[in-house]
Amino acid sequence: MAGDKLLRVVADRLRGTLRRSDTLARLGGDEFVVVVPNVPSTAELVGVTEKIVAALDSPVDLDGHTVTVGASIGVSIFPEDGQDCQTLMKNADTAMYRAKQNGRNTFCFYDSEMNTQALDRLWLEGALRRALVQGEFQLYYQPQIDLQTGAMTGVEALIRWNCPDRGIVAPGMFIPVAEESQLISRIGLWVLEEACRQLVRWQDGLLAGVKVAINVSGRQFLNRALADCVSDLLQQYGLDPSQIEIELTESTVMAEPERAIEQLQRLRQIGVHVSVDDFGTGYSSLGYLKRLPLNTIKVDRSFVHDIDNQRDNAAIVTAILGLADALNMSIIAEGVETEGEERHLRGAGSITAQGFRYARPMPADQLAAWVGNGGGAQIH
Ligand code: C2E
Ligand code: MG
Ligand code: MG
Repeated sequence: MAGDKLLRVVADRLRGTLRRSDTLARLGGDEFVVVVPNVPSTAELVGVTEKIVAALDSPVDLDGHTVTVGASIGVSIFPEDGQDCQTLMKNADTAMYRAKQNGRNTFCFYDSEMNTQALDRLWLEGALRRALVQGEFQLYYQPQIDLQTGAMTGVEALIRWNCPDRGIVAPGMFIPVAEESQLISRIGLWVLEEACRQLVRWQDGLLAGVKVAINVSGRQFLNRALADCVSDLLQQYGLDPSQIEIELTESTVMAEPERAIEQLQRLRQIGVHVSVDDFGTGYSSLGYLKRLPLNTIKVDRSFVHDIDNQRDNAAIVTAILGLADALNMSIIAEGVETEGEERHLRGAGSITAQGFRYARPMPADQLAAWVGNGGGAQIH
């Protein structure tokens, strides 16, 4: 009864922030959809989301009990983010999950370009420079789980920015600007070094010997000095190269395949693992794929989504499995969220999974606690 009443209060407050021409609907559970037609600019849309967040900010009185609520808002825009209702809803949902990761009471645009527009590029550049100096970046870690054994096989390091003005900011909001402004090489170096420091900190506990996957941006990857830099860090921190996996996106590899092959060879020579991220979204040429010395293919989340019901996704993943098998590469499925997805993947072959179903990305100490509580072996 109290839950229903809360939903009614929230709905009333939401309605209060909208125009008569807007549409408000409750999808189910605690999810609402707002359709806002004819928005003249991104700034105006940001205004709408801020109004909604503000409307839900004050506590709700439920028969004498005061409760507080918050909203995470995902925004997708027609026609840029989808031509039909289904795609727009899916993309708004993706953006909402990203917003949730950023903490309560935040919004996130589906398209990273829009995010950075919303954050104001110039402000962002200055703030990122300051963030480097003031040590505002932090690495979160998300476990990767072997679906056959339930064991954790490694973690992926994902950067977060603890911004004093905006709270925890996800990489999609600032990496694109960092890439354009040369700041990415400094941020990328920080990420590499911090991951090494963390591996050393973990050396005495449950996480001793764990493998960390590190994302590198296109620009950072194509810099010839990368392999030397990694090799220097390994030596400096006394780490085993096989504890490091470098992730690059498929589009980075395919932008300059010949250079990418050389770079990958350099990295493999020093003994680190390499994987291709977001596979399936970047128009791989199969001719190149067989020449790329990769250890792992990470299947993009869009193909994992609802794989137990969507036959085309299932077919694509089966095909990627065959490809990986023939090329002697292993597979990680990204964004596994449901039991059904897990069951399907486990039946499909030898696959490692990463996703909210197991754990969200979390700070290093939380990961240690999660592993301590048996988190690495929780397959049902
Ligand atoms: P990615 O490398 O593909 O990382 C996976 C993203 O999916 C992460 O978002 C993660 O939080 C999210 N994710 C994991 N499981 C699920 C799930 O079950 N459902 C859904 N909806 N999402 C899931 P995050 O941390 O926001 O990172 C976004 C992207 O930013 C990364 O995509 C990566 O390309 C980039 N990035 C992150 N850290 C770094 C970094 O240190 N350097 C560089 N250059 N890029 C980074
Ligand atoms: Mg990645
Ligand atoms: Mg990915």
